[in-house]
Amino acid sequence: MTRLRKSVGGSHVLPRDPDAWGAFTWSAARADLDGLAGGALNMAHEAVDRHAARRGGETALRVLDPQGGRRLLTWHDLAARTGRFADLLRALGVRRGDVVVAALGRGEALYTTALGTLKAGCVFSALFPAFGPEPLRARLAAGRARVLVTTKAVYERKIAPQRAALPDLEHILLTDAAEGAGALEPALAAMSPAADTAPTRPGDAALLQFTSGTTGTPKGAVLAHEALVAQLATARWVFDLAPGDVYWCTADPGWITGLVYGVVAPLAAGATVVVDGGDFEAGRWLSILERERVQVWYTAPTAIRLLRRAGTELARGVDTSALRLAASVGEPLDPASVRWGQEAFGRPFHDTWWQTETGAIMIANTPARDIKPGSMGRPLPNITAAVARREDDGGLTLLEGAEATGELVLKAGWPSMFRGYLDQPHRYAASFRDGWYLTGDLVRRDGDGDFWFVGRADDVIKSSGHMVGPTEVEAALLEHPGVAEAGVVGRPDAVAGEVVVAFVAPAPGHAPGEALRRELLAHARRRLGPALAPRAIVFRDQLPKTDSGKIMRRVLRDRLLKETPGDG
Ligand code: AMP
Repeated sequence: MTRLRKSVGGSHVLPRDPDAWGAFTWSAARADLDGLAGGALNMAHEAVDRHAARRGGETALRVLDPQGGRRLLTWHDLAARTGRFADLLRALGVRRGDVVVAALGRGEALYTTALGTLKAGCVFSALFPAFGPEPLRARLAAGRARVLVTTKAVYERKIAPQRAALPDLEHILLTDAAEGAGALEPALAAMSPAADTAPTRPGDAALLQFTSGTTGTPKGAVLAHEALVAQLATARWVFDLAPGDVYWCTADPGWITGLVYGVVAPLAAGATVVVDGGDFEAGRWLSILERERVQVWYTAPTAIRLLRRAGTELARGVDTSALRLAASVGEPLDPASVRWGQEAFGRPFHDTWWQTETGAIMIANTPARDIKPGSMGRPLPNITAAVARREDDGGLTLLEGAEATGELVLKAGWPSMFRGYLDQPHRYAASFRDGWYLTGDLVRRDGDGDFWFVGRADDVIKSSGHMVGPTEVEAALLEHPGVAEAGVVGRPDAVAGEVVVAFVAPAPGHAPGEALRRELLAHARRRLGPALAPRAIVFRDQLPKTDSGKIMRRVLRDRLLKETPGDG
């Protein structure tokens, strides 16, 4: 079987010329995994035990906390902690296939929970701990989560008051409780560090990741253990990641990037993963690059723009000589930011494109090619991407030729492709046409075959890298007695990409004005948390609607938003 180039002493980096990509097949990528007896495949085995067996004393995680603490975990430590967690799930009667949710910040407990859950053959889902009570409840209920791992504060403030609405949620494990029912650490201490890894099949569900659509409830995308084939391969092809590399992914595991390229893929590659529990702070981030001697850095446009704002001199002042590759994902990466990477760190930012449903990077500016600033790059090996138009009769027309603009579609069947939307088979089926997966993104393909992001084909908002479903925000606003109608859209923003703006028609008896505005902003923040809550409220007597009464977000976005500059 063809091996990746690293194994013969070269690098994994894709050759510049796609004609030379013949060796980079999915079967070669499969051979890069260990596997378990009888054809079983478990992400946790690949990410933890495989390395614990070979290089157990080396560092797997460097966990930094905002107070300046730094804790190292070896592969042995990680194997033992995840073994104990798997044993604990079994002791609690949690079965294979059950859903375990973590609402935790980035830290050791998150890694223990994610990888221990996979070891037990359960399905792992991460929720952003800054979500408000409503998005947490909606996702826990949709996932029928049996176990929630979180902190006392999150539990007491956001979950306990609505526990009756979550009948499937049997076990709460608290990472910061020293004793008593649900205290995680004492429970782990009583368990076996050597619990068996469940012999999951490649197609068994491993990760459940919620993503936002334009309508209704969030979609729970299911990724199988086999997704790791593409996740590890792409980590090698795009980042050239190898054992011992120091790697830092800044994304939160509540979003797919933080889970796949923050936890599973880099550990499977044997990299030493830097985990930073703090929020963005330019000076601290730069000092992490320097002190940890980060070699591969995966971050996002909003953070890059904030770093730029903090100043090129500040960035130039830190020693980032270890940095081999800097990459970006999640939002359009503007050409100026690509070039700024070169100015500040001597490395341009390599844009990469993917989404929850694709399970792994699909399009990227790979290391061997010169970057065209502003372009997302090319489809990776074995990925067939096209530009298409959906026809009203249910068909799909592929748009050939240079400079085609339309929806990005991907030929279905790559290993990390999502296997379903939880309980929404029709929604899943509607994501495909004629054997192509429809991404919902609009792109342009240039004459060289490079892809350029144009926008979303739907109303989903991307704010600071977070997918925000307008319906979820509108629903929270409509709970308030002062709101008769609500329509939520994204307003372009120099730093966050887009910010969430809500148009509101007040209910009779409620005067539009500063008092109501403040009350609605606070209400939305309480219900939704800061990532989803609108940044601004714009009052209108009524909102534009279709004949059937649907609020026309496009009109809000294209016309009304422009008429209200600086309003909110
Ligand atoms: P998520 O599923 O939360 O990862 O969000 C996926 C969406 O983020 C995609 O459908 C795009 O709209 C957007 N996105 C991801 N990567 C890029 C990129 N490199 N450039 C522009 N938009 C991106």
